[in-house]
Amino acid sequence: MALPLQDQALLDGVLQGSAMQRRRAMAKAITLLESTRPDHRARADALLTALLPATGNAFRLGISGVPGVGKSTFIEALGLHLIGLGHRVAVLAVDPSSSVSGGSILGDKTRMEQLSVNASAYIRPSPSAGTLGGVAEKTREAMLVCEAAGYDVIIVETVGVGQSETAVAGMTDMYALLQLPNAGDDLQAIKKGVMELADLVVINKADIDEAAATRAQAQIASALRLFGQHGNPEHAHHDLRIWHPQVIQLSALRSKGIDRFWACVESFRTLQTANGQFHARRQQQALAWMWDMIHAGLRQRFAAHPAVREELADITQRVAGGRLPASAAARRLLGRFTDAAQPAPPSSTDS
Ligand code: GDP
Repeated sequence: MALPLQDQALLDGVLQGSAMQRRRAMAKAITLLESTRPDHRARADALLTALLPATGNAFRLGISGVPGVGKSTFIEALGLHLIGLGHRVAVLAVDPSSSVSGGSILGDKTRMEQLSVNASAYIRPSPSAGTLGGVAEKTREAMLVCEAAGYDVIIVETVGVGQSETAVAGMTDMYALLQLPNAGDDLQAIKKGVMELADLVVINKADIDEAAATRAQAQIASALRLFGQHGNPEHAHHDLRIWHPQVIQLSALRSKGIDRFWACVESFRTLQTANGQFHARRQQQALAWMWDMIHAGLRQRFAAHPAVREELADITQRVAGGRLPASAAARRLLGRFTDAAQPAPPSSTDS
């Protein structure tokens, strides 16, 4: 299907424009896909579909950690290191709080001063689309635009709050969690769920207290081993074909340990490619994304459906009052939804 002229120009700009045109086209494309207008959405879908063949070649790295742990300092140091190695780096953010505060606290250009003015870097603040699902979806799509524009390392940053870590781990090839040197002192406070997502735990600010950082490194490493056993403590750690989460320490402020971090990422990538996990994870993420969108779309349509709306208040009251079993209520409402959604049956006069 041919794109409208203006979107064809966007597509060309993203794929093969000069550095300046490319940047402008990317910004426009991302603005288009962040729009909530249905006609913009339709154009964005067509544009993304046209960009898709040029995507998928970047390495997608997720970074999270509580505010103040040093994410922007780290991403600035890492980004500059990677650009020095010849990479092009895009930094995106998932910040569900940005819709509440009215401004994004992540991806703020003033936070990565050197990286933001570098010609080989592209930094985009978190969309303020409202719900986490919306924000994460936009970021995922923006990632595809960056890949199509030739950025080969995409860093997706998020604050360590609620579900945003899960969302970021679910859209990246590798997920790294930043911790402070005192993290090990209070292992209870480390959320098991988040730790389990981590492919790599980074203890930042090791320059402040090296002894504490080393202690934290050992404590977190042993916690990770416990998480990772999955009922098979004997063999889990000797299997060299699968990745075992690592713990490293560094100082983002002094740019110390950044090369070791990247070496770790490289070995992860090599191993995951060799054992098939790299591809499998992407496949599974694409399908999970599709189903997320289907579920969200269905929920929206269900709630907006006239026949459902007609009965919802009454049925809700009857269930709450114990006069109608929840399961019967659900079946009834779903029935109203699907009956009306299906094409009308052929009328008896046809036969
Ligand atoms: P973010 O909120 O996670 O993005 O954290 P920032 O990158 O803004 O860092 C928060 C504060 O910690 C800033 O004052 C940084 O200068 C400082 N910081 C970041 N990394 C280090 C580090 O490795 N060592 C020390 N001593 N301070 C750091």
